[in-house]
Amino acid sequence: MKTKRRGSSFNSLNSKRQLESIFLFTTGKCNARCAMCFYANDMEKKAEDLSFEEIRKISETAGNFKRLWLSGGEPTLREDLPEIVEMFYRNNHITDLNFPTNGIMGDRIIEWLSRIRKTCPDCNISISISLDGFGRTHDTQRGVASFYRAAGTLKKIGERFRDDGHVITNIATVITKYNVQEILDFVTWVYGRFNVSTHTIEAARGITREDGVKVLTEKSLREIQDRIAPYYLLYARRIGEGMNFIGRGLTKFFYVGLMRAMYNIRAANLEKPAPWNMDCTAGETTLVIDYDGRFRACELREPIGNVKDYGCDVQKIMSSEAMKKETGAIGHGYKANCWCTHGCWIMSSITFNPGKMLSLLVKSNRETKKLSAGRTVETSEELLRELEDKYHVDRALLEEAGGAPGKGVSKGAA
Ligand code: SF4
Ligand code: SF4
Repeated sequence: MKTKRRGSSFNSLNSKRQLESIFLFTTGKCNARCAMCFYANDMEKKAEDLSFEEIRKISETAGNFKRLWLSGGEPTLREDLPEIVEMFYRNNHITDLNFPTNGIMGDRIIEWLSRIRKTCPDCNISISISLDGFGRTHDTQRGVASFYRAAGTLKKIGERFRDDGHVITNIATVITKYNVQEILDFVTWVYGRFNVSTHTIEAARGITREDGVKVLTEKSLREIQDRIAPYYLLYARRIGEGMNFIGRGLTKFFYVGLMRAMYNIRAANLEKPAPWNMDCTAGETTLVIDYDGRFRACELREPIGNVKDYGCDVQKIMSSEAMKKETGAIGHGYKANCWCTHGCWIMSSITFNPGKMLSLLVKSNRETKKLSAGRTVETSEELLRELEDKYHVDRALLEEAGGAPGKGVSKGAA
């Protein structure tokens, strides 16, 4: 039986705008060279990472907040990462940890997750592993041979935390020119091969390391999103396993609604900024701290200062003239002048606009139901093997890594 997840990340509604999330770029180092990396230029600066002592001051001045989003660079290359997470749990009573990783350092990830589960027992952990396509496609896009290592990490997480309701595993895929042709097959294969809680797809964003990797239009992104809509009903079912009838229903409503709403907003903003129909709360509820201490309202806007110039004091930073000016520049409602495709901020902003949220979720659930009507998602072993042959996946290596034949989830009717 699964341990119970405390205060689901999908259903937190909040109308009071206060600091809810800190996005902490723990290091500027990375062991991959992704073509679509939007942080490559920042990492090239090779500035020094914030010290533990500086991060301690940030934690001690931030007060209680809900979510710590790790980022980088590759977070697992920061040696004192578990201590940093434990410090935020102790000082700031975080209830949710978002842990994105490229999955290359599998043993370390398992060791650290196990440790954090013991030392931060009430914290929900969403671990998000990047997997961009079948075998060679993934490796080309990531710039390093890491497909089988990431698959192995997914297997180890599945084995170790299968019954732990505090650990949710996501596969994150960025769509580029390299994987766009195979994305629909890949979504099917991921659902069938890995027992993960969810699979998010997104279009490459920001200024990418390699030119010309962004190939999607609003129309083509919407087509992909519509085609994969039935999978979100299935993932909702997976997440709700072990819950009672009401829990399952609420999970489905929030998960399916939020995913579809986020995808709709993203698609509308792909080619040109388009109002989200709600405020973006960047800079009011979120603070982004780069690895070298520069800070921003969100990942896509320019830095507006350095935490070191504020004594690493989060209260001073959030009430600073620089932040006031920045949130003023972002603006509010339809008069706002800043809109983008960034899923983390779309999700966060939805929960801070409860008036809009309910109608948005109802509409998004209806759309997903309509798009899934009469469609069956097939993930038989035969089909999964066909896909592996088609895309030259080395089944022996995959088996060794753990995404092995026999691990598939059989047919699901959406
Ligand atoms: S996208 Fe992430 S994993 Fe890839 S190079 Fe950039 S920081 Fe590293
Ligand atoms: S709309 Fe996007 S770019 Fe603008 S402030 Fe919000 S998250 Fe940042």
